[in-house]
Amino acid sequence: MTSYDDANIFARILRGEIPSHRVYEDAETIAFMDVMPQGPGHLLVVPRAPSRNLLDAAPDTLARLMPVVQKLARAAKVAFAADGVTVMQFNEPASGQTVFHLHVHIIPRFAGEPLHPHSGTMEKPEILAEHAERVRAALAAG
Ligand code: 5GP
Repeated sequence: MTSYDDANIFARILRGEIPSHRVYEDAETIAFMDVMPQGPGHLLVVPRAPSRNLLDAAPDTLARLMPVVQKLARAAKVAFAADGVTVMQFNEPASGQTVFHLHVHIIPRFAGEPLHPHSGTMEKPEILAEHAERVRAALAAG
C-alpha cells in the first residue's frame, strides 16, 4: 500500500497551516466543515493520528473516532433540522478517496433531496462559517 504523506491537506489543517471552519476538537480528533459540501452542514471528522484511511489505521484510532462521529452526527441532525444523516468514508482512489488522511463524512439529509456531487462546488466562506456556528451551538446545547 502507498504510504502516508504528511503534506496532504488534512495534515496541513491539523497543523494549522491551512484555515478551516472547526466545529469540534479534542486530544485525538478534530471536525470541520467540508469546503465542497454535498449538502448543507457537511462535516469531516479527522483523527489527529496519521493514517491514509481505514485500511492502515490503528484499531485504537478507529475506536476513539466513532463516538466523536456519533456526537457530531447527532449535533448536525439537530443543527439543520435534518430528517437523517449520511455517514461515509472512502479508502483509496478507486473508492472515491481524494484526500489521503483518514476522515469520516457526516452529511445531514432531507427527505427527497439528493446529495450534491462529491468534491463538486466550493461553498462561500460566510455560509460555511454560519453552518459551523449552528453545529457548535447544537454541540453546546448537548
Ligand atoms: P474524500 O474524497 O477523500 O473522501 O473526501 C475529501 C473531502 O475533502 C471532499 O469532500 C472535499 O470536498 C473536501 N476537501 C478538499 N479540500 C479541502 C480543504 O482544503 N478544506 C476542507 N475543509 N475540505 C476539503
